[in-house]
Amino acid sequence: MNDLQIKIRDRIKAATRVLVTSHIRPDGDAIGSSLALGLALQDAGKQVQVVLSDGLPGSFRHLPGSEKVKTKADGEFDLIISVDCSDLKRVGKALDGYRPPDIVIDHHSTNEAFGELNLIDPQAAATASVLARYMHNWDLSITAPIAANLLTGLVTDTLGFRTSNTTPEVLRQAADLIELGADMTRLYYLSLVRRTFPATKYWGAGLSNLKRADGIVWTELTIADRKASGYTGNDDADLISVISSIDDADVAIIFTEQNKSKTKVSWRGLKPNVDVAQIACQFGGGGHKAAAGAEFSGSLAEAKEHVLETTLKALQLPI
Ligand code: AMP
Ligand code: MN
Ligand code: MN
Repeated sequence: MNDLQIKIRDRIKAATRVLVTSHIRPDGDAIGSSLALGLALQDAGKQVQVVLSDGLPGSFRHLPGSEKVKTKADGEFDLIISVDCSDLKRVGKALDGYRPPDIVIDHHSTNEAFGELNLIDPQAAATASVLARYMHNWDLSITAPIAANLLTGLVTDTLGFRTSNTTPEVLRQAADLIELGADMTRLYYLSLVRRTFPATKYWGAGLSNLKRADGIVWTELTIADRKASGYTGNDDADLISVISSIDDADVAIIFTEQNKSKTKVSWRGLKPNVDVAQIACQFGGGGHKAAAGAEFSGSLAEAKEHVLETTLKALQLPI
């Protein structure tokens, strides 16, 4: 075990009250990793609060321990851990009134190492994979409920084991988690396949607006589209995964209107020579080489103008 692993183990051993948090708009890896670590720390005798600034989306309520998720921390903690989150801003309000994390565990290439101890593996397919690799070093065991959460992180961040960082290690971890009691078929269906009717109607609005120019495919989703379809989230309902399958594009982008002065932007790099995290960074966002996002300060029209221009410029530069 290296020095960092020993330090993390010792901090965990010494702690009695632990706060586990992750990023706003939590995805399957944020939720699966937080719940897995939260449950394991609880099994090790700690008092644990799992705090997600935006709470838990309904689509992940099947996960063991999901009833524990709170939107505000309460009391004092001798250990604060952030998982799957690249910077302090992305924690949202979860740490309002608290210090920055003592331990950061993540896999974003744009991670700002904002903890006291930082375990960041940008090669890892998911934070859940980092946890599955190291939890035994910290004397935390993986029970069936914990395995279900970790497998959800692996399945969702690899889009069902399809991304290029799906290594033999990830597949072995998945096999081990199945042996430990995780039901992959069910978890896969619930986190990646199942959709609501309004979400599918909302996709239709985005798909009917699809545009293409200079290797970029993009579309927009407006507040009016959400009203008309009945979709209650304020995200793209993962439409980005659908337009990412367009065969001759280099980059896919979705602009999701938040209000008059805020627009969520999601990028996916569809070719190995594209790094969308670098583009997202120019707008205060971040992510991975092939998947990145940012909260653009400006209207939908302004976001489209600036982001398309910057993305096109980035595509013309060799990397
Ligand atoms: P999304 O497009 O929201 O699905 O995000 C794609 C990837 O970019 C995920 O790994 C996110 O964690 C990351 N990401 C999204 N938005 C931001 C942001 N505002 N700042 C930093 N990273 C982000
Ligand atoms: Mn995430
Ligand atoms: Mn992740």
